[in-house]
Amino acid sequence: MDEHIDPLIIGDDLRTREAHLHIWSEVVDGLNEGIVVTGLDGTILDCNPAFERITGYSRAEVLGLNPRILKSGRHDAVFYAALWDALVTRGSWVGELWNRRKDGEIYPERLALRAVRGADGLPSHYVGMFSDISREKQDQARLDYLTHHDALTGFANRKLFMERLEQAIECADAGEGKAAVLLLDLDRFRRVNESLGQGAGDRLLQVMAERIAGCLKRRSSLARLGSDEFLVQITEFTDTDALAALAQRILDEIARPVPLDGQTLHMSASLGISVHPQDGGDAQHLLQAAAAARAQIRHGLGNRLHFFTAGMDTRARRWIAVESELRHALARGELQLYYQPMVCVRDGRVRTVEALLRWNSPILGWVSPAEFIPVAEESELIVTIGDWVLETACRQVRHWQDTGLPPVRVAVNVSAHQLASGRLPERVREVLERTGIDPGQLEIELTESAMMTDSEHSARQVETISRLGVSISLDDFGTGYSSLAYLSRFALTKLKIDRSFVDGLARDPKSSIIVDATLGLARGLGLRVVAEGVETEEQRALLAAAGCDALQGYLFSPPVAPAALGALINRFAPAERYAIPRVVSIGA
Ligand code: C2E
Ligand code: CA
Ligand code: CA
Repeated sequence: MDEHIDPLIIGDDLRTREAHLHIWSEVVDGLNEGIVVTGLDGTILDCNPAFERITGYSRAEVLGLNPRILKSGRHDAVFYAALWDALVTRGSWVGELWNRRKDGEIYPERLALRAVRGADGLPSHYVGMFSDISREKQDQARLDYLTHHDALTGFANRKLFMERLEQAIECADAGEGKAAVLLLDLDRFRRVNESLGQGAGDRLLQVMAERIAGCLKRRSSLARLGSDEFLVQITEFTDTDALAALAQRILDEIARPVPLDGQTLHMSASLGISVHPQDGGDAQHLLQAAAAARAQIRHGLGNRLHFFTAGMDTRARRWIAVESELRHALARGELQLYYQPMVCVRDGRVRTVEALLRWNSPILGWVSPAEFIPVAEESELIVTIGDWVLETACRQVRHWQDTGLPPVRVAVNVSAHQLASGRLPERVREVLERTGIDPGQLEIELTESAMMTDSEHSARQVETISRLGVSISLDDFGTGYSSLAYLSRFALTKLKIDRSFVDGLARDPKSSIIVDATLGLARGLGLRVVAEGVETEEQRALLAAAGCDALQGYLFSPPVAPAALGALINRFAPAERYAIPRVVSIGA
């Protein structure tokens, strides 16, 4: 069989030709694509039903007209000139363009134009085949919207925000306007999610987004970064005072009570501010500076705002370095616990030791916990590190016990984040179970600010832990709010007078008044009192006379590695009373 024979035009008789035309016209009529045939001058000679459907013009209406009746006005003369040029010189043009329907609606179409050649090989007609791509465009626009907006609040996302910020910075550099960034996050948002459910958390975020937007001249300057972080771009402001005032207005709005699911929530936020160009030359650096400013805000009560300040850049860089190294510190075994004894005033014995983190980083060297704990708190690494501290300290106590050391209790520092997470009581219970130590051998040290953060929730957590038989001590007393009335609400057993008061004891009469008052109050509440940072014999004598129960400080011992503790306890307890079998080695 001849493979070049078209089955439709086999034979030469009229009936077969008619059948052929009929089939093709059926095909053309049934197409979803519009088809239009014009003469070389552009006059419309024919079109199919899809053309009528898409353009709204009937076939009868357009025959003899020029397709320019469909022009939308969205393309300039250059566009059409290029189209005609391609059609005439190459015989085809393919592209997208905007056209206008009969009812005036403008729509996008994808169009393929082709010159049809006659028997002489010269162009005789043009055929245009097009489809309406409005749906496609809408989907694309929607996709575009989604990639640039936060689905929950409908405000910009990080990507769009950064694009706009770059533009604002360019304008500012060109002398048109200014650029500043406010970065804020809600305090304790996770608690809302955990206690009221994610649905409530989502609604809270929507309410907060609207409140923040309400403070702004343009809604487009607000973005949500994810979770509970919001970014605001400010391009019109007179000076930093005006910025601070705006920031304060936002914080006030956030602080207004929120009715949610039959409850009333009281929220607060931390806010960092950075200003172009002094705090950052581009969007990325400006954002980093705002984050660094915000990181300066210690967790506490109420709203806080902080400007990026000179020198913070170095601090911010150091902060970022510490954070990135700290992420691996635990897994790489760079963290250690040292232990510092508390010496009983009455008999000189050591019954409790405080576990203190030590970090020797191969990159940064020794980093003080006073520096890396705030970083850990900000990045929430503190929860993993805190779990490790708790476990390691308890295992150490178990190990000392197994090697025959007189029983010691270990005091573990716990941060506000760990308490706020709501998981602490369960962690403590698990660790006690795993290590098999007596709950009385564990003490948790909490600061006032940790307890004051959402105090009702904190009080419940503390209560649960204390019911396990673990004692709770209030750390750094005197440095925070020192709200004495609060103390009675918590299940406390011990109070630690901060180093700063001990330090001022001999010089500053106010310090000794505070120490005396604290001791009186503590006794009234049935609390034991420990003074920390005791460095001199004079301080020891004053504190002992004032009635402190135990003392801690360099005068007795700095924090030491666990292996050295046996000898230490030995030093503070008469050797004959305790058999210390051998130098204790760590097997933590
Ligand atoms: P803190 O709980 O108040 O711990 C006491 C700090 O005072 C320790 O500093 C200790 O080394 C130091 N110190 C002890 N005796 C003296 C003294 O006589 N004079 C002076 N000048 N200082 C003395 P360190 O180890 O640098 O810890 C600093 C802070 O870091 C701690 O303060 C605590 O808030 C935090 N921290 C340490 N370890 C942990 C931990 O495991 N978890 C948490 N959440 N925080 C920790
Ligand atoms: Ca402590
Ligand atoms: Ca302390």
